[in-house]
Amino acid sequence: MVFLVEKPVSEVVFARYNDHMSSINILKYEYVPPEGYFASWTTGGYVFYNSRLDYLRNRVIQPDKPQLQTTGRFQRVAVVFKDENESNNEAEAVESGFYQLDMHRWVARKVAENNAFKVTNVPLAEIAKASKAFDQVIREFTEKYGDFFTANVHSDLFEEKRLDDWYDQWKIIGDAASDAQTEKGKKRLKEPIPGEKSILNENLFRYTGIGRGPQRSTSIRPINLVGWCWALIARDVLDGITYKRCENYMSDQNPTGCEHEIPSEALDGSLNMKFCSAECEAATR
Ligand SMILES: [Zn+2]
Repeated sequence: MVFLVEKPVSEVVFARYNDHMSSINILKYEYVPPEGYFASWTTGGYVFYNSRLDYLRNRVIQPDKPQLQTTGRFQRVAVVFKDENESNNEAEAVESGFYQLDMHRWVARKVAENNAFKVTNVPLAEIAKASKAFDQVIREFTEKYGDFFTANVHSDLFEEKRLDDWYDQWKIIGDAASDAQTEKGKKRLKEPIPGEKSILNENLFRYTGIGRGPQRSTSIRPINLVGWCWALIARDVLDGITYKRCENYMSDQNPTGCEHEIPSEALDGSLNMKFCSAECEAATR
């Protein structure tokens, strides 16, 4: 028997970087909205959700089934479904419909604003203040967009992360987002590291599904918001997307304005956007 061995799609796709053929097609992101964000300071600032606790409470231990092995604070009790068909408390995934085309750049601004969170040689009171401020940023983020690392926090895919991890991941993404706007930076992201993938490839592999899209494009499906951000970075690098501020951007004259930028090209290919959202457009009428 002869098998036609095809190279993995992703290898083919990214070998084409230099052929200038790529255009990036980002597929919709679906997630289950979590509820009741809290950061547990007694355990080092782990991010958790009341709706996940409810989910865990509704499960029972079955000794004859393989148990979850987790190390985190909230999963010390190993749990599995009593009956996998009885999962009536599973929430529906919804398509993310918010404005998020600048998420990779927005998180960069947030870590810059909250860099006191990472400073250590300051009085304890200052650290507490900075932690509280960053905690609030993450709370508002999750209420709007869901968890950053897991699309469904009510599942075994949930990754326990500390506020520290959020900060570090946002910093990495922010640096890449800024690199994506310069030739030198693009090179850093695209160039394969000997024996390894390029930074861009590595992150797309880890956090997205990649495939061939329509009309010689590359389709990327984010598995979480980390992947969403890397998909946007890929678009910046390969399609040369640039950004400007929304016309309703916050300023001294416009204190209730937004904090978002608009890309030179929308995901559907439309150009010359002026506003990040219908709300912003309405606000300036
Ligand atoms: Zn706006």
